[in-house]
Amino acid sequence: MWTNSEDKALRERAEAVIPGGMYGHQSVRLLPDDYPQFFERASGAHLWDADGNKYTDYMCAYGPNLFGYGHEGIDAAYIAQMKKGDTMTGPSGLMVTLAEEMTRMVTHADWAMFCKNGTDATTMALMIARQHTRKKTIVLAKGAYHGAAPWCTPLKNGTTPSDRANQVFYTYNDVESLEAAVKEAGDDLAAIFASPIKHDTFVDQEDPAPDYARRARELCDETGALLIVDDVRAGFRLARDCSWARVGIEPDLSSWGKAIANGHPLSALLGSDKAREAAAHIYATGSYWFSAAPMAAAIETMKLIRETDYLERTQALGQRLRTGLDEAADRHGFALRQSGPAELPLIMFADDPGFSKGYAWNQALIKRGVYFHPWHNMFICAALTDADIDQTLEIADEAFKVVKEAGPLPPVEKLAILATLSD
Ligand SMILES: *Cc1c(COP(=O)(O)O)cnc(C)c1O
Repeated sequence: MWTNSEDKALRERAEAVIPGGMYGHQSVRLLPDDYPQFFERASGAHLWDADGNKYTDYMCAYGPNLFGYGHEGIDAAYIAQMKKGDTMTGPSGLMVTLAEEMTRMVTHADWAMFCKNGTDATTMALMIARQHTRKKTIVLAKGAYHGAAPWCTPLKNGTTPSDRANQVFYTYNDVESLEAAVKEAGDDLAAIFASPIKHDTFVDQEDPAPDYARRARELCDETGALLIVDDVRAGFRLARDCSWARVGIEPDLSSWGKAIANGHPLSALLGSDKAREAAAHIYATGSYWFSAAPMAAAIETMKLIRETDYLERTQALGQRLRTGLDEAADRHGFALRQSGPAELPLIMFADDPGFSKGYAWNQALIKRGVYFHPWHNMFICAALTDADIDQTLEIADEAFKVVKEAGPLPPVEKLAILATLSD
């Protein structure tokens, strides 16, 4: 029986000692009621919340879980290195090994720098582009997420307009708007930032159009600016290379994080020789950036990426989920909007501008042990099984029934805040 008394008690205590009770993407404030805020453990493709409820987890910690929570081989490498030495006065030799391995796997990359969060990597990319070009302006896709620093946070509270100076926006996949943004940057263009796919929240995902990716590369080559692909979220989930290898375009810099150490804290910036000199001349560091144990975990993760069929498996599992959900929706007279690569699915309802169907469905799913997200792309991990998918499809079928029986519902009130976030 699903209960949430422990979660409620923790939330009450959190209200007193954690601002807002929780912050950032980890806050469940904007999710349907009954989403648990606190978890107790995780294993493979499953999560247990603070009340002991078990979920098949399709969020993968918002990206870090690629091979399953608590993966034995990866964690064994982590623990062994932790016992030998983790955060030391200098890095271990594993840093060099990991840089060698990642540059071997990622076609455009000749060098690597390691840090802790995706934001560290995107911020270093920004600095390296400005150092390399001695120019200021960066061109970015409107609505794309690149991290939580003042220059890129989606919620502007606590930032000033000068934190975001020298930024021009384009529409993802729209060549004309990209060209217009580059034109506006004039002779001051330092970089074009691109997400590997359009994976913004609340809207359908889009694969990169080949002509858009090609034009971004050309515009950088024409102006001397650097092309940056922010692969923090999608990296190694779509390819065993930079995600834009899928469209045959090599960036100058790519930022990585989330899955690269299967949940252990590590991120990376990879670059080509063109940007090496500039990369060597920015000041970049952090107390925990050189810790050895997460690098040991990353080396093991890279081995699994190279040597297993995890990619083909997550694609097949995602496709089976997608097809099954469409069939179940159809049986109940609903239509879903499923977008993006199957292994990075985003699932919303058609004809649901106020998200009321989506919220009712996700709420029914969570109470039955399936952790889906109503407006953020989800993640398929390699520990998920066909049996997990079958069970999810059965539960999804029940959840569609619940939504149908509920009849018309009002727009989701807590999402009214979105109107205040737009530029
Ligand atoms: C998560 C994310 C980041 C920021 O990574 P953090 O580790 O949260 O700092 C940057 N870019 C993209 C595309 C992301 O998904």
